[in-house]
Amino acid sequence: MFKTGLNTSLNTGMLTVFSTVLFFTGCSQESAETTTATEPAGAESAATNEGSAVDAAIAALGMQDLNSITYSGTAWRIRNSFMQTASASPPWPSRDDITNYTRTLDLTNLAQPVSLAKGETFASNLFFAPPVAGTYTQTIPATQSAWGQQLEVWLTPWGFLKAADSYDAIETGQTLDNNPVTAVTWMSPVTQTSLSGMRYTVTGYINTQNQVERVETWVEDPFMGDMHVVALYSDYTNFNGLMVPATMEQQRGGGGIFGVSVTVASANPANVAELLTPPAAPAPGAPPAAPAAPPAELAQQIGEGVYYITGGYGSVAVEFTDHIAVFEAGQSEARGQQILDEVKRIFPTKPIRYLINSHPHADHTAGMVPFVREGATIITHANNVEFLNMALSTPRTLLGQETLAPKFQAAEEVTVLEDAMTRLELHHITNDHSDGMLVAYLPAQKILTQADFTLPQPGAMPNPFVVNLAEYVDAQGLDFEQYWGIHTAQMPQTKADLMATIGK
Ligand SMILES: [Zn+2]
Repeated sequence: MFKTGLNTSLNTGMLTVFSTVLFFTGCSQESAETTTATEPAGAESAATNEGSAVDAAIAALGMQDLNSITYSGTAWRIRNSFMQTASASPPWPSRDDITNYTRTLDLTNLAQPVSLAKGETFASNLFFAPPVAGTYTQTIPATQSAWGQQLEVWLTPWGFLKAADSYDAIETGQTLDNNPVTAVTWMSPVTQTSLSGMRYTVTGYINTQNQVERVETWVEDPFMGDMHVVALYSDYTNFNGLMVPATMEQQRGGGGIFGVSVTVASANPANVAELLTPPAAPAPGAPPAAPAAPPAELAQQIGEGVYYITGGYGSVAVEFTDHIAVFEAGQSEARGQQILDEVKRIFPTKPIRYLINSHPHADHTAGMVPFVREGATIITHANNVEFLNMALSTPRTLLGQETLAPKFQAAEEVTVLEDAMTRLELHHITNDHSDGMLVAYLPAQKILTQADFTLPQPGAMPNPFVVNLAEYVDAQGLDFEQYWGIHTAQMPQTKADLMATIGK
């Protein structure tokens, strides 16, 4: 059932677990913080001499007979979503409230936990204005065994403690923020493993009031590698004998992405089945049209030494005397590989020296991984380098992949790549979509290429970012004919179409 870990000798199992934990955290951005929290304590630590911290926490939180729990209040989430923020690096201050938030967890069967959260939002969006009303739903059904979803259960104090009580958890005395805590680590069942076959690790920190202050785990992510997910709990409040943290926050990539202020909570609600019934799904519409078959050749020449690559998120390859630069790598690792392969097919003898990232949003970054493996240097705006370097340098053990060694070149206001063959200018466009956004301008070929500066439909108002770009182009006198989007337009677009958005 339960092993108290640390006293006179460290057994082999413990060392295995802790070396795993340290391996995950050792190379991440949060290493300074979490190394303190996860280092195996020295022999002088004696926090676990008397009984188990897990048993004490279960008693202190009033959850000896807990099978299910429901809690309500107000929640928040970062605007848009993780990695769709206006700035790449945290903190991410733009948040949307989720009112009438209620979450219910059923932990009766730990092999099949169930969770449902509901609420109402009035959310702004980086693409649409004004804010729109909507509903928030997070559903984790009993059939959902993916760690990326289930971790939402295991990171709660109740899911964490119940699993710690059932699995072979290991306790060690440590310090967290200079206060003594007991760190409790357990691993996912042998049947629940990552792509590389590794079991997932969960570590929680129990303070001297026997409250769970922090729970963390790692999950594989194609861009973030072994992505660290941390839940923080404070302001424990007594609801009829059930102790619930009134303040909850989840962090990813080093910043808060979601939080709850709890005002009501109860154990074993009588109407748990009703509470766990998801809202009715919208009636099914027409089946989605089958995707068009990709053209046999993805590349289309759009200028001297310049190719636009179709078949998904677009990409532009530019030929220099002895190398190639590629603007944008697609929305997924698979698409990035497809673009990379196509560029090599067009230019079989020239290395891809530069990959230019238009901005650090999630749908413009995952495709960079194959280019990093290829040895290309990533050029991105200076505002993005720290976050992207952290993400791409994180170990990728859960994916079963080698750690990457990304190289970066930070772009400033105007960055020029030029040799005897061609000239490529990267211009930083100040706007609210992202504070690290570059467009690529080819003066000789008279081409401007961009991501997310999408022109309005006929008759519609332009979004504010397009207006920012049009004003910049006007002020700088950038001279071009073709206007290419990474989000492929229906029709060829021109500078005149862009300038029309500002009435010029
Ligand atoms: Zn974007």
